Amino acid sequence: MRKIAIIGNGISGISAARHLRKLGNDEITVISGETDHFFSRTALMYIYMGHMEYQHTKPYEDWFWEQNNIKLVRNWVKEIQVSQKTLLFQDGRTMAYDILVLATGSRSNKFGWPGQDLPGVQGLYSYQDLELMEQNTKDITQAVIIGGGLIGVEMAEMLLSRDIGVTFLIREKEFWDIVLPPEEASLIGRHIEEHHIDLRKQTELKEILAGEDGRVRAVVTNENQEIPCQFVGLTVGVSPNINLVKESSIETNRGILVNEYLETNIPDIYAVGDCAEFRVPLANRRPIEQVWYTGRMQGETVARTISAHKTAYVPGIWFNSAKFFDIEYQTYGHVWNQLRDNENQFYWEHSDGKKCIKFVFDDQSKTLLGVNSFGIRLRHQILDQWLREKRELPYVMKHLAKANFDPELYSRYEHEIVTSFNHTFPDMAVPIKKKGILASLFS
Ligand SMILES: Cc1cc2nc3c(=O)[nH]c(=O)nc-3n(C[C@H](O)[C@H](O)[C@H](O)COP(=O)(O)OP(=O)(O)OC[C@H]3O[C@@H](n4cnc5c(N)ncnc54)[C@H](O)[C@@H]3O)c2cc1C
Repeated sequence: MRKIAIIGNGISGISAARHLRKLGNDEITVISGETDHFFSRTALMYIYMGHMEYQHTKPYEDWFWEQNNIKLVRNWVKEIQVSQKTLLFQDGRTMAYDILVLATGSRSNKFGWPGQDLPGVQGLYSYQDLELMEQNTKDITQAVIIGGGLIGVEMAEMLLSRDIGVTFLIREKEFWDIVLPPEEASLIGRHIEEHHIDLRKQTELKEILAGEDGRVRAVVTNENQEIPCQFVGLTVGVSPNINLVKESSIETNRGILVNEYLETNIPDIYAVGDCAEFRVPLANRRPIEQVWYTGRMQGETVARTISAHKTAYVPGIWFNSAKFFDIEYQTYGHVWNQLRDNENQFYWEHSDGKKCIKFVFDDQSKTLLGVNSFGIRLRHQILDQWLREKRELPYVMKHLAKANFDPELYSRYEHEIVTSFNHTFPDMAVPIKKKGILASLFS
């Protein structure tokens, strides 16, 4: 029986452990310094907002692990002694392994700003960050968030839920425009402002100032403007958490370097999830994938390889979803922030300015390449299928109603979308059913 150690009890490490158990009888130990049990990091905001308690964010009952013979160790690993195949823990204990899976996740970025380590200044990644945010935001009235992105907007929503005023500094011209195309970035920017957030575009942080009590009292922008606050949220992205391996012989770049089998340069050591970086990225994918479902897929894949069913990571069609306050966002395939050479797009936005959909397609073949939707929930399975089958845009338009996730909860906009499509691209126009008939078909 081999001893398999997994460092990290997030979605990647836990998926690896569960699938290793399904596939064999190895001795499996999952180590984490953060929490005793696996929890959903994506639900951290709901704990703060009072919608959930911590125990509700645990996808498995605590007895699940013992019952499945997966040992959990709560400790920080301080060093990996690669040549001895031993882990050294922070408390001095050691543990031998035959196979090691690194699933150490990410950490919040900091860029060396003066004052970035003051009390009252923090990022949001771990459970400990959540506890700190609880303390740091007690009885305060004004906060500044630095850096627009998914975690920044979650933090803004969290603070607003406690009536704390938020100023949001973003370096970009429009919100998250390093990822979102201009129309979507502008829609979300407007939505953020409607929530009475003071969104300051093209504004950078210069310095964070301390008050007499040593805590944060203000930030200073690159235009030397001082903004008083009692809390600063640093949400300028995350980076692979590779501190543990930096001094070892395991090769790193921004993340821990792996091949398509998630193997590092050292035999019997693998890396999965947010901490891993592909030496050769898959076509149209980033070398580091920092989302929940890819962590799960990588965990499953590595378990197969370790269990003698060597399997390359083939993640299929890219998908991600998130929420910007009340607006749900889904993205399928490739929608870059700017159209690429061979690409064209069809964009529709509802008159309320809170719903939109974008189809990116190959300009020559008219094949669908990617879809962004805001405020309209689409069926994952259908979009995935259309992208895999390389459907042409007229086909997609003709069958658009099939992609509507929940006709009972969501009003349908197919009629308006298809009409607008026909108007914009008469050469690809598709027949439009009467609104009433279309609606009755799907109600
Ligand atoms: C607030 C927030 C919201 C998010 N929302 C979304 C979302 O809506 N959708 C989405 O797809 N993704 C979202 N993400 C990203 C997603 O949560 C991550 O991609 C995912 O959790 C990464 O999983 P992982 O298992 O690779 O790493 P992690 O979940 O980071 O787990 C790594 C674990 O390893 C532990 N560890 C690290 N080093 C050591 C060590 N030396 N010793 C012991 N333990 C160690 C860490 O403490 C941690 O517990 C969100 C992230 C955050 C922070």
